[in-house]
Amino acid sequence: MSIAENYNIIKKELPSEIKLIAVSKTKTVEDIKKVYDVGCRDFGENKVQELLNKYDKLPEDIKWHLIGHLQTNKVKYLPNLVYLIHSLDSIKLLNEIEKQFSKCNKVADVLIQINIGKEEAKTGLNIEDLDELISEVEKCNFVKVKGLMATIPKGNEESCRYYFKKMKEIFDNLTNKEFKNISMEYLSIGMSGDYEYAIEEGSNMIRLGSKIFGKRNYDLNNN
Ligand SMILES: *Cc1c(COP(=O)(O)O)cnc(C)c1O
Repeated sequence: MSIAENYNIIKKELPSEIKLIAVSKTKTVEDIKKVYDVGCRDFGENKVQELLNKYDKLPEDIKWHLIGHLQTNKVKYLPNLVYLIHSLDSIKLLNEIEKQFSKCNKVADVLIQINIGKEEAKTGLNIEDLDELISEVEKCNFVKVKGLMATIPKGNEESCRYYFKKMKEIFDNLTNKEFKNISMEYLSIGMSGDYEYAIEEGSNMIRLGSKIFGKRNYDLNNN
């Protein structure tokens, strides 16, 4: 099956209210164009440098989603580049986003990434630190939180649903409260192996890489 066919099939089966992001990390500009040409406009990259390399070679109406861990020293490249940052996970990063976006007089739309499985090796905010981050977000002038993101621990269906449910609870809890600069629009959960469960558990934004583009070759890309 071709990349374009993969995209078309997934898109056809997807409820219209679910936002599909094609995760193009390690993939070539040519492959990205194939998905663009059949109508996809939302693409996800996990590294700022890789996004910078691809950005100029691709159409301007692409909405780029930064889905990977973001180092503070890379934030300065983002104000004119990125549509949505999925990986806000610390006050330090929040302050840097506020600073760099204010310089360009642009507002950053971001999701708070939660380390829902409390995995040591994973980035994302610990849930215990959420209240503190939220009160800092309320002080910002150039940051708007649009929802939540997570990558869940590897596991079977039961385990996946357990973590997705937990995310949905946090999402609903915040939806029912009022905070300055925060509106719960997107719940970004679900990847190639588990997106169907994620949608059933309340996701409205899924991030699919291998399901569209095929396996990633990390050797070639040194990624
Ligand atoms: C790579 C990646 C994805 C896509 O993974 P697939 O399993 O190939 O769909 C989604 N989200 C994040 C944060 C990623 O890094």
